[in-house]
Amino acid sequence: MEFKDFFSMMKNRISDGADVPYFFRDLMAMITDVTEEEWGTPKDPSTKLTKDNTLRTYAKRGFSQKFAQSIVYRLHPEMFVESLKTRPRAALALLAEDYKSYDPTTTADNMAEKLADCFTDIIRRAAGLVPQSEFERQRLVRQAYELKQQYGEYLRDEADNVCAFPGCGRLLSVSENGKFSTIYEVGIIDKSKEPKVDNLLVFCPTCQATYMFDSNKKRRKELAGIKKILIAHKQSMQLLDSMPLEKEIIGVISKIKNLKEKDLLDPSLDPKDIREKLSPDENFALYNTVKGYVDTYYVTLKEIITNADKRGEIDYEEVQDQMKAIYKRLHKAGKSNVEVFNEISEKIHKVSFQEDFYCQIVVAFFIAKCEVFDAIAQ
Ligand SMILES: [Zn+2]
Repeated sequence: MEFKDFFSMMKNRISDGADVPYFFRDLMAMITDVTEEEWGTPKDPSTKLTKDNTLRTYAKRGFSQKFAQSIVYRLHPEMFVESLKTRPRAALALLAEDYKSYDPTTTADNMAEKLADCFTDIIRRAAGLVPQSEFERQRLVRQAYELKQQYGEYLRDEADNVCAFPGCGRLLSVSENGKFSTIYEVGIIDKSKEPKVDNLLVFCPTCQATYMFDSNKKRRKELAGIKKILIAHKQSMQLLDSMPLEKEIIGVISKIKNLKEKDLLDPSLDPKDIREKLSPDENFALYNTVKGYVDTYYVTLKEIITNADKRGEIDYEEVQDQMKAIYKRLHKAGKSNVEVFNEISEKIHKVSFQEDFYCQIVVAFFIAKCEVFDAIAQ
């Protein structure tokens, strides 16, 4: 179904006489939480809103790829279904009749879900996220199914039962009337490589279906960064319970001062920026990891560091200054929080030769200590 047909069918039944631009906005608010300011549409400089004429054109000829890409990863078919169910019943009955000519299996009961799927599919296609052929689509669906059978539960545990896609945050299980069930899929991070476990992430079905045909490099890098954090976090949770931290942590911290200016040139970090941005909604994996480290190790680390400082093994003030300097030098913007977190950890890893997760714990500690991640440190 084309967007123009979908739009006119919906407008005909549920717009309650609203004009095209008004109903276009209404329809988008049903399927996505992306606000109009964030839409990839040309804006009217005086109102900062999308020009009504642009929306009229979209309604008539389908919307632009840029617009579709600005919303495609924040679609909420379930929200659409909910919203549709609040509309007058007579209108919904007529809508079900309309849609029957596109899909003969439509009934009054399944109509909302079918329309949500149809709308989601229209947006994905407009964003350019489509399979090369039906054969290709089936192959990928089958592969995802097999990967889920093999690695699904491991990956769901790794991501703490939350969709690993940045900005999503959907839980991967529901319990209704005392019944527990899981709802998730497995996605391949880098599709040009083998689907081994370190190249897989767990997603909600919506994010997985969208990412399946996405070859955007930046997004792939972001997901690889998330995977790195999750792997280290899982390792640390398994190992550290029974391990003395002291030697490794001092090993890490005492080497921070060896970071050279040239090591710190390319990435970017603005502490304020992270404070504003780091939230469970924006990136659950990073938030959860840092919070996990801080919750678990903050007190221990503080003790280790204080004692090592007293013994003269490290110079705490110097280390603190060095970390602050890292933040400042990495000011150049443009990188995501995940990349920033990983890059600092990696640099410390290179100078200290300690396992990734020790380095991540230390970075998390300083983030909390410098009150960069306000909410977490509390
Ligand atoms: Zn998701």
